[in-house]
Amino acid sequence: MTDSQPLREIRINPIVPSESVLVATARGSRPRKDEAPAPRDTRAHVATCPFCQGNEHLTPPTIAAFPAAGEWRVRIVENLYPVLGDDRAGGSLVFGLQQAIEGYGRHEVIIDHPQHGTAIHEMSESHLSLLFAAYRTRMRQLYDSNPRLKYVLVFKNFGPAAGASIPHTHSQLIAMPVVPENVHNELEHSRIYFKKHHQCIFCSLIDEALTFEATLYHRDSGEIRRKIHVGQYVVERGEHCIAIKPFASRFEWEVHILPLVHQSDFLAINDDVRDDLARVLRRTMARLDAVIGGAQYNYFLHSQPHGPEHADCGASYHWHLEICPRTSIPTGFELGSGLFVSTISPETAAERLRAVVID
Ligand SMILES: [Zn+2]
Ligand SMILES: [Zn+2]
Ligand SMILES: [Zn+2]
Repeated sequence: MTDSQPLREIRINPIVPSESVLVATARGSRPRKDEAPAPRDTRAHVATCPFCQGNEHLTPPTIAAFPAAGEWRVRIVENLYPVLGDDRAGGSLVFGLQQAIEGYGRHEVIIDHPQHGTAIHEMSESHLSLLFAAYRTRMRQLYDSNPRLKYVLVFKNFGPAAGASIPHTHSQLIAMPVVPENVHNELEHSRIYFKKHHQCIFCSLIDEALTFEATLYHRDSGEIRRKIHVGQYVVERGEHCIAIKPFASRFEWEVHILPLVHQSDFLAINDDVRDDLARVLRRTMARLDAVIGGAQYNYFLHSQPHGPEHADCGASYHWHLEICPRTSIPTGFELGSGLFVSTISPETAAERLRAVVID
């Protein structure tokens, strides 16, 4: 399908139905201001950058390095300005209607690469696989270190529009005593879907993306309203992982990567899936870079939380990596309504990403 016929519809997120997106592709209905692409810092080494190789004395001490001996390729350090800290007791504070949990947890920085300005799509697949191994190792260590930690969120901010304060390529990790709202909503709704259909909703979405084919007609005129064909939402298909453009994407160029075989906990990922995840991510980021140029983005990993209250979602939840490029600034309408506006249809976005020729 192309955008020749303007589309104006509210799409309900199949996983979290309380989230919806307004797809309005007509030119005149462009309600948002585009985010200007920031010039990317591509220098290999910057003398004053705390994350560059050789400047290790400028950061807090190393928590973990990969590989453990010799020159590091990925390094994890404490965050100088943590949003959560383990100096807190982790108790609850209740005063009338005001309830709070002490800001107990960990906030760490993962330096993705020794070189300053290397973007994800420029890294080798073996390096990206090592980066995912670093995520997994540190997540496991944190879960093992303290049963009060329910969720370890790994995420990346790239570019000032995505909230990155240091240009050197890095990810972050926040271990927290609560399950974040977004993950909680996905967990709850996928649990309900599983009870009804005895299948994981993410697996169903993958099946649909790979095989669904249909033509929708206008009831009165008989005209074709929309054609849905095989792989319409598939951006990149690997041996073990798939990159999909969500049908109801909050961000115009949003792409999700999931393992093809059901798995709820990212910690259970084996080396083959990890290598393929690296490959699919590199190729997806190369596609995004080619289409939107100098993408500023956030990505984050959603996986099964730990703790006994979440032990039953192994069959209903499916880990995934959400990539959210920041190409426009949310407006008051979007913040006030929670209804995100997309001015390109997800089908067209997927088509354009797929069309990029990469090595
Ligand atoms: Zn640097
Ligand atoms: Zn699944
Ligand atoms: Zn998610």
